[in-house]
Amino acid sequence: MSDRLCTQSSPMNVTVTSLLESGKAFDCSSDKYAVEGPRVWVRFPFLADTLPDGTVEVQGDNNGLTSMQVHARLDDGTILSSAFSEREVAKHWRSKGSYGLPVPGTDNPELRNRIRTVYLTIDRPKVVSSISLIQLASQQKWDDLTLPLSIMFAALCGMAIMPLIYNAFFYGAMRYNFMLWHSVMISATVCYTFSSSGLIFLFFPETTLITKMLINYWALAIGVGAGGFFLLRFVEPGKIASWLKVLITVTALLPVIVTASVLQIDGGYSMDARNYYHASFLPVFFVVLYAMGHALRRGSRAIWFQIAGWTPIILFSLDRVARGMDLYIGWPILDYGLYFTLVLETIILALGVANRILRLRQRHEDTLRQQAELTLLADTDGLTMMNNRRAFDREFERNQHEHRYSHLAIIDIDFFKRVNDRYGHEIGDTVLRVVGRTLNATSHFAARVGGEEFTLLMRIDSREKHKRYPANALAEICQALIQAVDDEVPEIREPVTFSVGVASIGRRASLRSVMATADRRLYDAKNNGRNQIIWFDIAENKSAKPAGTASV
Ligand code: GH3
Ligand code: MG
Ligand code: MG
Repeated sequence: MSDRLCTQSSPMNVTVTSLLESGKAFDCSSDKYAVEGPRVWVRFPFLADTLPDGTVEVQGDNNGLTSMQVHARLDDGTILSSAFSEREVAKHWRSKGSYGLPVPGTDNPELRNRIRTVYLTIDRPKVVSSISLIQLASQQKWDDLTLPLSIMFAALCGMAIMPLIYNAFFYGAMRYNFMLWHSVMISATVCYTFSSSGLIFLFFPETTLITKMLINYWALAIGVGAGGFFLLRFVEPGKIASWLKVLITVTALLPVIVTASVLQIDGGYSMDARNYYHASFLPVFFVVLYAMGHALRRGSRAIWFQIAGWTPIILFSLDRVARGMDLYIGWPILDYGLYFTLVLETIILALGVANRILRLRQRHEDTLRQQAELTLLADTDGLTMMNNRRAFDREFERNQHEHRYSHLAIIDIDFFKRVNDRYGHEIGDTVLRVVGRTLNATSHFAARVGGEEFTLLMRIDSREKHKRYPANALAEICQALIQAVDDEVPEIREPVTFSVGVASIGRRASLRSVMATADRRLYDAKNNGRNQIIWFDIAENKSAKPAGTASV
């Protein structure tokens, strides 16, 4: 149709008759859309046989329109006219975001056949597509489609809102920034779908075409801007280089800045302004395309969700732009596809957000586990896997308040150097492990505090009252140790014995003083011939008694 379409401008007071009488020529060249107004005239032929039955209407982009008139010129020169105020034009919205004004006379079959030319006047059009996208179509078809399409768009809006609720719900618990940006994107998508589809007129009949157009402009600019910021925060740290981050930030802000300035120029909607508006999306488009490949190369997993969400939008946008530039005919039905892809994107990204939250939580749990492991290692002796000096010190500190242990024993392997020298370090290590395991199996708190030196914090016991406690308990333990080494390290032919120094843990005694006492008694045990337990100071009590049970 557009190739048969011609235009011209006139002052506001020019009527169809005065225009035709003046004989001023219409512009049918390629410059025809560059009309200045204020009253823009569009002329196109009415080919009755190529049109569907019933009332025919003129359709076009309803962004930025004001008042309009439709004139039908019959074969005898008679002119039928109908005029529409801006409000009335708005009332004739079509679900696709266009207007549809009936051509007068087309509801009458006889008159319809006599219509030859249609003249359309648009007062101060803001959007060139109001002219360039003009087509004639069956009114009935659109009337029938309005309800199902409205339901479809409402359902799309509803689907897009779901992730919003979900974001709000989870943001309460997990304050990840990308959830906020995702919410902004969703809100913009919903606003865009709601206004651009025309649903806005159904819910808010008072809305003007200008308001609708402003919402469209802003929603798109804000949505795309938020998309850039979402990308920055959603992709794992380190997967986007800093220079690219800066570039994304700047290009994502550009449409918002340009929209704000464009809407100030000339009331907002000169052709140049619109061109600037559309051009402002190009940098972020290419930067984001590049960033997706970039993050992918750096091994980002989150970027897959963006690729899945944005590829359909990019393809549909390209299709729309290509059709708009008349590169190919395509199917106008694809216009709806763009809305679907927008909603699909919010849903795919919602899955991405859920996935990212899960992975962030997993990482958090891994960190906790690692910490626990490190703590365990820090408290554990690597060779024997028993408590180390650090854990022992802490347990002793704890005992200051809890009073669970009555005695501290230091157990030292006798002539261990000799074991190493005779049988090798491997065997020595095995002995240490066997000793550790055996001590761990007692009910006392056991630790390895030196090379072949172990400590036991001995639990308060009913036998404590007994005169020889803890010597008898320790004698049993030493016996068990000798037996265990004998059983488990058969390579060692002579028995491995132990010397033990014991000190009681006074209520306010420091670790240092208790250890010093136990150490002194261990030294005494060694000097006294080894393989014995000393639980008192020999200097004070001359009758040092070998434990006996530990002898072989
Ligand atoms: P004493 O009866 O006087 O305690 O004599 P000793 O040989 O047991 O004592 P000394 O302190 O002279 O030697 C301790 C030895 O313990 C020296 C070292 O080679 C050995 N040792 C210390 N840590 C380890 C270890 O982790 N593995 C092995 N295989 N040997 C160790
Ligand atoms: Mg030793
Ligand atoms: Mg030693």
